[in-house]
Amino acid sequence: MEPYRIKVVEPIPITTREYRERRYAEGGYNQFNLTADDITIDLLSDSGTGALSAEQQAAGMRGDETYAGARSWARFREVAAELTGYDHIFPVHQGRAAERILFTALLKPGQISLSNTHFDTTRANVELVGGIWRDIPCAEAEDLDSDEPFKGNIDLVALEAALAGPDDIGLVLMTITNNGGGGQPVAMSNIKKASKLCRKHGVPFILDAARFAENAWLVTQREEKYRGHSPRDVVKKAFRLADGCVASLKKDGIVHIGGLLGLNDPELARRCELLLMATEGFRTYGGLSGRDLDMCAQGMLEVTDPLYLRERADATAHLAECARKAGVDSVQPTGVHAVYLNAGRLLPHIPPHQFPGHSLASELYLAGGIRCAELGSLYLGEITDDGELITPAPYELVRLAIPRRVYTRSHLEYVAETLAGIAENPEQVPGYRLTEAPAMLRPFRCRLEKIK
Ligand SMILES: *Cc1c(COP(=O)(O)O)cnc(C)c1O
Repeated sequence: MEPYRIKVVEPIPITTREYRERRYAEGGYNQFNLTADDITIDLLSDSGTGALSAEQQAAGMRGDETYAGARSWARFREVAAELTGYDHIFPVHQGRAAERILFTALLKPGQISLSNTHFDTTRANVELVGGIWRDIPCAEAEDLDSDEPFKGNIDLVALEAALAGPDDIGLVLMTITNNGGGGQPVAMSNIKKASKLCRKHGVPFILDAARFAENAWLVTQREEKYRGHSPRDVVKKAFRLADGCVASLKKDGIVHIGGLLGLNDPELARRCELLLMATEGFRTYGGLSGRDLDMCAQGMLEVTDPLYLRERADATAHLAECARKAGVDSVQPTGVHAVYLNAGRLLPHIPPHQFPGHSLASELYLAGGIRCAELGSLYLGEITDDGELITPAPYELVRLAIPRRVYTRSHLEYVAETLAGIAENPEQVPGYRLTEAPAMLRPFRCRLEKIK
């Protein structure tokens, strides 16, 4: 059960199918055009959507808005430094700000960033400074159904070859958990070996640590050597294997806004500090208010609570299990922050060019007012300006991201029941065709229509 009770409530909109059909059509069947009043259960993202604790709210009230050297900064730095061990701690407004600052200071044009999988803003920030991103996930990640415990790992053979080879590697970025790769965890042994290889070749090894606590939780559950260790202990060890981190605190900081850049190299930190002050804010607030800094500090303390992490992981697994019983498969083994449904398998009558992932996501909205994210050919496929799919995505997935401390199990069971209703007659779910397909930021801006 949830190791907390509810003190503040917010009503959720309960709407009719007729209303949803109308609103969805008006928005060109794009879920990004829906607004809060249209949505009953919002599983679009686990970023910045968590519920604050009473202690976080109290910490916010103690927030000190002194321009430079606020007490809130001292508290933020103390918690972040104790957690990560890095000498230089910079607050930023969110994860991508840390990415932009770090890559600008570190990557030269033409240099390569290697990763188990780059997150999409991370890719964009590598490209914006003229760098080249390359993903080298482990081979086990390709099989969605296998029970391999650490499908988030980096391919160590490919990493060693790349580090030894002729290419100019600017940094190695380990994303924990591997968000682009189905929310799968990275083993401590994998982090350790990657760290060793990077040190041998003198290449900076950085963690993209948005879900540092969830990765550590899965390590304590799945990696023999860490069974019985506290998640906080594992988090500390992981950070100390790297030379620094970029982190969105909107995930495992359980705040609505906030991020962190941590570094050991004093020279690199000096360059980052300059960029921070020129573009985000003075080094002691980095674009956040004092109250944000204090709520981040408290969130970083709360998130490693094993009772909290166990319940969150159990709730996500429960949703995946209910879906499976209803005949809807998801990426295995289930991670913590999301369930990735295999829409391609559920809707074999819809070819990739009619976007089965989008079809399932649309049906979840129309049938139950549930919003989620397509991770299939609409998002990841290669598409012409006329909306023709040239290269489909490898899988047609739908991500149900679970906000932290927001929905109860009965909300998740409602999602599972809605899914079960769809799975009873999957052949009735229609495909979609693109009517507007802008090349830039397509998923956010495109419009579609139902195929009758
Ligand atoms: C969310 C996320 C980011 C970007 O963080 P923002 O706070 O959204 O800017 C980077 N990497 C990963 C793995 C993420 O999940």
